[in-house]
Amino acid sequence: MMNTQMQQECETCGGTIPIPQDVVIGEILKCPDCGLEYEVKEINGGICNLEQAENVKEDWGE
Ligand SMILES: [Zn+2]
Repeated sequence: MMNTQMQQECETCGGTIPIPQDVVIGEILKCPDCGLEYEVKEINGGICNLEQAENVKEDWGE
């Protein structure tokens, strides 16, 4: 069986973010190129829906 490495393109720098095979929703993935952190929102047929973790943190500001 082929060992297919999932990956996702970084929205910010266009770099390649490797997706671990045992990825779970809520996991934080980091772009190796720009260091931006993404939270996994959804996993659908090997495609991950990523959202910038920075956006989540903004909600904590008072
Ligand atoms: Zn990036």
